[in-house]
Amino acid sequence: MSRQPGVRSSMVFLPRERLSALMDHLRSEGYRCLGPVVRDGAIQFASLAQADEFPIGWRDRQEKGSYALQAAGDARMFAFANGPQGLKPWLFAPRETLWRVDGRKAALAFEPAEVEDARLAVIGARSCDLAAMAIQDRHFLGGERPDGAYAARREGLFVVAVNCTHASATCFCASTGDGPATRDGFDIALTELDDGFVAASGSERGARALADLGLASAGDVREAEARARVAAAGAAQTRALPGRDLQAALFANLMHPRWDEVAGRCLSCGNCALVCPTCFCHCEREEVSGDGTSAEHYREWDSCFSEGHASIHGRQVRPDIRSRYRQWLTHKLGSWHDQFGRSGCVGCGRCITWCPVGIDITEEAAAVCGAATP
Ligand code: SF4
Ligand code: SF4
Repeated sequence: MSRQPGVRSSMVFLPRERLSALMDHLRSEGYRCLGPVVRDGAIQFASLAQADEFPIGWRDRQEKGSYALQAAGDARMFAFANGPQGLKPWLFAPRETLWRVDGRKAALAFEPAEVEDARLAVIGARSCDLAAMAIQDRHFLGGERPDGAYAARREGLFVVAVNCTHASATCFCASTGDGPATRDGFDIALTELDDGFVAASGSERGARALADLGLASAGDVREAEARARVAAAGAAQTRALPGRDLQAALFANLMHPRWDEVAGRCLSCGNCALVCPTCFCHCEREEVSGDGTSAEHYREWDSCFSEGHASIHGRQVRPDIRSRYRQWLTHKLGSWHDQFGRSGCVGCGRCITWCPVGIDITEEAAAVCGAATP
């Protein structure tokens, strides 16, 4: 029988009540555990003290511009698609100091900022999150000068991925080739069944963690059920991009009237870029202390939609929403192919859910590109 990525041979069964033992093992190795919890009406990543903090029995309902939770009353911990965050905020901080300068010393002293708390175990990363992390790895680590803060956090990251068994109405990772099954980038991958998890290791430290728990083989029946549930999550997706490489179609349509139409709806709020797990644009600024004796140099997430990001030498190169939205979409789905050899979209659907006016990247791409080749 063919096997799906992320649902592998030599799999073991982790009873649901033993997930806490895995967390204990990770803590004994020095990791802080992070996982999905219900917070402020959404499922978000937060520090976890115990396994009963997972969103037990919750389902998410995602549509264009809306997100809601519903109680199902069962014991499932990961029966939802995703929340507003991927792994991005934990590796590429929304705002962080890069260096400080102290002017009270005889000579100006520049000090790089320390990266605190680098050992982090994330439990519940999805296949789209891992695909996005692979892109961000290339951006932050691939050049001649790897980003120090990102590299330190990445080095200290332990990933317990969870294969998706539920798709939301905004998911379309099957069409981008990034899900719903995990392929790589994890230490352990879990697939949730009614009574626990089929678990596979993806690294030596992941294999050690599972071996320490002394788990029994998952067996053929559970493995087959795990594969079937993940396959069903992919089959349930109702959205799709019109093709995996839209670069030529997008750049052939830079004057398409759809850009004006979407500009009439877009608020240029930047939510889509903030929730996008692959967007990496940021600005860098200085902040001087009140007494003027020291300063910090920090970076902060920015996006195609801000006035500052479109300003070069005091001149606006993207003065209107039409040009800002077009920049976002043509970069994300077009010129990323030149930079990274693939599109910048992993099909997580977050930009659709969290857009306050429900602009849908799959609809906009189809409207501009027409029937592009898959
Ligand atoms: S563009 Fe939208 S769907 Fe694609 S990865 Fe970013 S947030 Fe997810
Ligand atoms: S597409 Fe939606 S989320 Fe993105 S900037 Fe426009 S209004 Fe905001």
